[in-house]
Amino acid sequence: MSQQSLRRVPATLAAVALLACAALLASPRPALAEAPYVFIDAGHGGPYSNANENGLTEKSINLLIALELKQRLQARGYRVGIDRTGDYAVCVRDIPTWHWLDDGPHLYADGVVSAGTPVDDLQARANLANRAGADLLVSIHCNGVTDKRVTGIETYAPTFDPLGQRLGALVQEEMVSATGAPDRGDKTSNFYVIRWANMPAILIEAGFLSNPLEASHLASPLYRWRLARAIADGVDRFFAEDPFQSVYPRLQGADRYETAVKASRAAWPNGAATVLLASGENWPDAVAAAPLSRKLDAPLLLTRSDSLPSFAAVELARLRPSKVVVLGSESSVSASVTAEATAAATVTTASVEATRVGGADRYETAALIAEQVGVPSDGRIAIASGLSFSDALSLSPYAGRLGCPILLTSGDALPAASQAFVDAHRPSIRSVLVAGSTASVPAGALAGLPSVTRISGSDRWATNVEMVRAWGSRGSLGLLVANGLDFPDGLVAGTYGAKAGRPLLLVQPRVLPDRTREYLELNQGRVTGLTLFGGPASLAKLMDWELQKSLD
Ligand SMILES: [Zn+2]
Repeated sequence: MSQQSLRRVPATLAAVALLACAALLASPRPALAEAPYVFIDAGHGGPYSNANENGLTEKSINLLIALELKQRLQARGYRVGIDRTGDYAVCVRDIPTWHWLDDGPHLYADGVVSAGTPVDDLQARANLANRAGADLLVSIHCNGVTDKRVTGIETYAPTFDPLGQRLGALVQEEMVSATGAPDRGDKTSNFYVIRWANMPAILIEAGFLSNPLEASHLASPLYRWRLARAIADGVDRFFAEDPFQSVYPRLQGADRYETAVKASRAAWPNGAATVLLASGENWPDAVAAAPLSRKLDAPLLLTRSDSLPSFAAVELARLRPSKVVVLGSESSVSASVTAEATAAATVTTASVEATRVGGADRYETAALIAEQVGVPSDGRIAIASGLSFSDALSLSPYAGRLGCPILLTSGDALPAASQAFVDAHRPSIRSVLVAGSTASVPAGALAGLPSVTRISGSDRWATNVEMVRAWGSRGSLGLLVANGLDFPDGLVAGTYGAKAGRPLLLVQPRVLPDRTREYLELNQGRVTGLTLFGGPASLAKLMDWELQKSLD
């Protein structure tokens, strides 16, 4: 492979493209799940910016360049999203709070006919890129000024977006060399769309429509093709540099079992007298474990139901526990796994006692764990849904830190085991912390309970942000970050956070939820550290940069 092609084509893309060609000569290119995702913002559209220079509207030229760029990138194997393919504003439903102009009906991309116009649709554009989990945002614009002599190309990236700035430099260099247009440089500016895009982002001003000659270039399909090819070349060079390196420390292993071991090693470097062992294949047994972990100062290790992972065995020997507490029934963690765990710990410890805290179902297991934790002196207990894990994960480091036992519920009445715990401890229970909305913990399940405080938002991400807020609005924040669409890393992060006194932020593997971004922006000065849990399949490398962009 020549120096030239090395420079221009990321090795992974080239390899995938070759495979695709060999396997599917006559078929369309298959979807490449692992290829980088580039989101294109075709600037303006619909009611926004009808600037007309030399017979050309900016929104139309932007769209033509954007569509050409989409084709060029797709031809190279990228996944590509675009926010409009016609002359309209994007998704108006996303702009509930903005000023509206009363200027007559408009058709929007999502089929809504509105009576007026939001002042702009820029947040909606950023949201589309953010929710797609794109690696990059490229926003396409053209310039116009009163001085008709001004010409040239310029590219902007946010002041706090180092990867955007690198991409901007590469794309600018390629565009200038491909078109011969004057080089106005790669610059920084926090234009709204690139500022609020979570991922590295650039905004290209592809030329001056106010200059008759440059306008005639931009009107030419051949010129736009050259321009789009040059942008794609810049994108290729960017990815060839393997830009998404780690920004924050990560506790990650080859799988969930090793990730749990990494967390145990980090938080219990000198061993532990007690170890909690629970299923890594399902979440109900361990979702209420953080308060017990905190009380016993015991790390949580995960296991398969029928065999102890080798990572966990090695960690049990390192921890030198005298006690192993197995959470859940024998169908979650078999008797033979319990024996394997005891044997593994006995390598370094003279005698190891194994006990099981497991009920007939998740509700009874949680109640038995709560019994071990006991009601703390402030009389507070916590309740979360036993039907989905996300709210309980959000709750777990907080409840763990408070030493507050967690009961699980389902439907409109407390399950018998949870109710039995409440009845047995009624005199000492003075308040109840509820994680999640009435959809997950209905009011009926709380009947007769004293002083209920509900912490909830409109979805799991908003509930999570509210749980993080519950830690207080002052002081430094050392946040933990884990995937909120799956449970294993969050279970481990919950016990880690209970010990370390650090709240848990839940995100999607590639998507920082809107509310989470907003929370981080508002608390930038307080965040003193982030620790991520899990490998790139749980949290993409992109997430480091999304978090960093929110905090800089
Ligand atoms: Zn523009």
